[in-house]
Amino acid sequence: MANYDYDLFVIGAGSGGVRAARLAAMSGARVAVAEEHRVGGTCVIRGCVPKKFMVYASEYSKSFKTAHGYGWDIGETNFDWPRFLLAKDVEIARLSGIYVRNLQNAGAELLHGKARVTGPHTVEVEGHGPVTAGRILVATGGRPWMPGDVAGIEHAISSNEAFHLEALPKSIVIAGGGYIALEFACIFNGLGVETTVVHRGPNVLRGFDDDIRSHVAEELEASGIKVRLGTRIASIEKTPDGLVSACVDGHSVTSDVVMFALGREPYTEGLGLETAGVELTENGAVKVDAYSRTTSDHIWAVGDVTDRINLTPVAIREGAAFAQTEFYANPTSFDHEMVASAVFTQPQIGSVGLSEADARRIHGKVDIYLSKFRAMKETFYGGTQRCLMKLVVEQGSEKILGCHVVAPDGPEIIQMAAIAMKMGVTKPQWDSTCAVHPTLAEELVTMREKYTPPALGAVA
Ligand code: NDP
Repeated sequence: MANYDYDLFVIGAGSGGVRAARLAAMSGARVAVAEEHRVGGTCVIRGCVPKKFMVYASEYSKSFKTAHGYGWDIGETNFDWPRFLLAKDVEIARLSGIYVRNLQNAGAELLHGKARVTGPHTVEVEGHGPVTAGRILVATGGRPWMPGDVAGIEHAISSNEAFHLEALPKSIVIAGGGYIALEFACIFNGLGVETTVVHRGPNVLRGFDDDIRSHVAEELEASGIKVRLGTRIASIEKTPDGLVSACVDGHSVTSDVVMFALGREPYTEGLGLETAGVELTENGAVKVDAYSRTTSDHIWAVGDVTDRINLTPVAIREGAAFAQTEFYANPTSFDHEMVASAVFTQPQIGSVGLSEADARRIHGKVDIYLSKFRAMKETFYGGTQRCLMKLVVEQGSEKILGCHVVAPDGPEIIQMAAIAMKMGVTKPQWDSTCAVHPTLAEELVTMREKYTPPALGAVA
């Protein structure tokens, strides 16, 4: 490797790339990282982190409303969007700076500019010229996908722009029924924006457990979000009254802002991967094996650009596994089974393992334990928000195949449940755990009765 400029050249300083670069550099390898935007990637700059700050900001409106029931008198409340944006940007800059310092402290070199692979060992970096490397790691992530068949789509924003709107709109229409659409719907709704979700499917959050999906859709409606299912936006027209989104079912909605969140695509454009023999999948993702090896001998890829499970902690683990394998002589592949996920809707979702439908399809007979209830924080002041907890258990083995929670702090709860699930916990073992009282999570270990869904047509 001594003949190359670097032992490892990483393209993309996001979650996966930074972890791989730091670990590799800490082994003594000569490492460089190219980044065309700011260091931190989608998660830190225009994803998970600023999104969570927006979730926190938006949750206050409910707290203000319910405070009275707890004895507080709160006068006029006013949300200052520019002040919030400034504070958010200061914090994001601080976090991005930490990423830069962590790379430097590990001994990795940072090159600002877009990198293009020109061969199995060569990369051209804008503003820096050609460099050579023993290994190349592609960690360029993904970016919002905007449909080409919607007239007037140029009037719509993606999540990228939602973090920087000059003014808080009075109304917004959000296309999509996935993670991003619903999280932003709750954020804007919480900030007092009249919010409409338009989703083509019969229910939101395809892939999640059906009870979770229905429950969340009901809660979103109850919180004031209009959810239009079974339709999609065909065109957007700019009028003096605002943006008019015309749906294929003949309905139209007028709003100040239209946001599209119809999925993200792997970011491979302009990377020159084909010149180095790196094959892509049908979805345009970099094709990799369990060790994140691409079809080109000296090139690897991790994170969203490989479209496996598109979550920050997964990218981090894939990057770490790559570094362990290649720079510590410790062959490691990340196990993509039982990865928990969270959706920061309001209420939030935490989920790990199989949905009931998938469990029945894969394992046959299953028992269901389900509880829907108002948390004591809600009952105290007469609130109506309901939590849902559900366990999917394989008959015979009693193994818990799925654990799903819709509740404030559902993601915090699921992180702990995921440990037991990853260890293959059975329902009797789960039930032997003593409850922590008074908490929401205790409901999870006190569900003893098997659940039978109400008969169709039964009055609830
Ligand atoms: P998702 O895949 O979650 O959702 C995309 C949505 O767009 C679905 O409802 C889908 O409908 C709909 N859709 C897709 N194509 C079309 C089309 N042509 N016309 C109309 N509707 C369409 O993508 P997101 O953009 O919300 O998020 C991308 C990924 O980012 C997530 O999958 C997740 O991995 C990650 N993420 C994770 C977060 C977290 O961990 N909390 C937060 C945000 C993002 P259908 O269901 O019918 O296919």
